[in-house]
Amino acid sequence: MSPVNKVKKKIRRGYGAKRSLVNTIARERIQVLLEHARTRAREDDKRLARRYVELAGKISMRTKVRIPREDKRFICKNCMMPLIPGRNARVRLTSRKMNVTITCLSCQSIKRFPYSREKKLHKTVNPYMTRPSAVKEFQ
Ligand SMILES: [Zn+2]
Repeated sequence: MSPVNKVKKKIRRGYGAKRSLVNTIARERIQVLLEHARTRAREDDKRLARRYVELAGKISMRTKVRIPREDKRFICKNCMMPLIPGRNARVRLTSRKMNVTITCLSCQSIKRFPYSREKKLHKTVNPYMTRPSAVKEFQ
């Protein structure tokens, strides 16, 4: 590697000690951008909504800050639209495969998330959710 490249790389990264500061700012900006994207999607401005999601993704990639799982579930991987249930997304439970299915209504792509683990957890930890009779045992 030539010396010029080395210097450039150092400048470009330059995060070292400022890492946590970068993280907080990035997290904040991702949140704001996603919020804007959702409002745009509600107003049916698809172009801007996609753009905001794209920018949030770019910040996330450059700073290695993850987009929170709850937010990521409601972004269409295929067309980058923020998904709003009842507006541009359909959310269904499939009982046989135990999936939450989110369908993007702009491009018809489907996301699936299994809920079998949650179901198991509820059975062992929280009897309220699965057996109403268990409520009596707790009182
Ligand atoms: Zn889509």
